[in-house]
Amino acid sequence: MAPATTKILILGGGFGGLFSALELAGTGDVTLVSDEDHFLFKPMLYEYLSGEVDAWHIAPDCKELLDERVRFVRGVVTTIDLEARAVTVAERAESISYDVLVLALGGVTNFAGVEGAEQYALPFRKLVDANHLRRRMTEALDRVQPDAAPQDARSALTFAVVGGGASGVELSTKMADLLQDALRRRALQGEPRVLVIEMTDHVVPGMGEEIRKFVEQALFESRVEVHTQTRVVRVAPNSIRLEHNHEQTEVATAAVVWVAGVRVNPLVEQLVRGHENIFALGDIAFYKDVVPTLAGTAQLAFQQSSLLASNVRRFIEGRELKSRHFVELGEAVSLGTERAAVLSAGKVISGPLARQARFALYTQRLPTWHHRLRVGASWFFEGTAPRPLQPLGF
Ligand SMILES: Cc1cc2nc3c(=O)[nH]c(=O)nc-3n(C[C@H](O)[C@H](O)[C@H](O)COP(=O)(O)OP(=O)(O)OC[C@H]3O[C@@H](n4cnc5c(N)ncnc54)[C@H](O)[C@@H]3O)c2cc1C
Repeated sequence: MAPATTKILILGGGFGGLFSALELAGTGDVTLVSDEDHFLFKPMLYEYLSGEVDAWHIAPDCKELLDERVRFVRGVVTTIDLEARAVTVAERAESISYDVLVLALGGVTNFAGVEGAEQYALPFRKLVDANHLRRRMTEALDRVQPDAAPQDARSALTFAVVGGGASGVELSTKMADLLQDALRRRALQGEPRVLVIEMTDHVVPGMGEEIRKFVEQALFESRVEVHTQTRVVRVAPNSIRLEHNHEQTEVATAAVVWVAGVRVNPLVEQLVRGHENIFALGDIAFYKDVVPTLAGTAQLAFQQSSLLASNVRRFIEGRELKSRHFVELGEAVSLGTERAAVLSAGKVISGPLARQARFALYTQRLPTWHHRLRVGASWFFEGTAPRPLQPLGF
């Protein structure tokens, strides 16, 4: 292949795709296609829900991040024709052809076939999902009358978070803190009720013991109700049916949020293997030599993007491809609006200091120096206090 004119087409503008595009800029003719106009730093979607960060901090425009060496096309990829080496994008008459294809389409929420889940539970993967949930929380608060009895306020403000992994913990503590703060500000009586539903016998099953005790303490302090060994049987418009010890209970809810799993983007499921000019990374990649497996994380997709870029260059030049070991960069979980826990080099710090450390750490992981500096300055000078849940129309 002629390196300068090789058409490299990257599908998906998330962690894998955007960072690959930044790395590959200047190598051949690079096009990035994504269905959103922005990148999303998903680990801080919880802070966006609580208003600790703004959309521009964590979801900068792809066009602002990329320079003229990468063509950005906004659109939904509808088909990938491996034989014709072309991709079709919704509402574009012309297909886009490629010599090298990079698949970085990420995952979608896995509702696991539970009755009503896809229809009525809210996913939590995009900015619009966070906007939707914040609106549901505000509407539920707005329905509580000023003189409501504590038990009525509690039942109107019952939210279920399905999945007790890191996402479920981060989301539920954030929601509980936000709702408690709103009740105080509105001088309402009672407490919100936020439930976490987890199938196994403990929360954050994938995390080590060192960090789990801080997580459990934070759930307790934020008064999140944890239901382990509990299965969701059905989700309805205003309720959730749970099963524990062979007994079923129906809980009335203001909203159910589903963070119980991710599955591969359906577009990728239709493809076949064995095409040497196709590379995949991020949540859709599978590592047959890693036992049990590597979980799809942002830090994995990020590390893969530099390996991918160097392998795409090697492929174009007809050289042998390389592999690389994944380096665990530690864990950082947000625990409500006041604190976090950060595990680094085998040590855990927690509380408000860890929250600051998490902001500092994530500033460094944002794409491009320019964006990092702008966001770092904004967080330093303007602060990162949460935005209270105001009545709608305020
Ligand atoms: C709420 C949340 C919090 C998380 N927190 C952490 C964390 O703290 N630490 C961590 O390491 N990981 C975290 N993760 C996981 C991490 O975000 C993912 O593993 C990572 O984003 C995977 O990168 P990716 O490129 O495979 O997919 P993504 O980043 O999801 O990117 C996929 C892109 O493809 C686009 N796309 C999808 N379908 C189409 C289509 N048909 N046409 C065009 N474009 C399409 C999507 O819009 C998206 O831009 C979190 C995930 C979520 C949802």
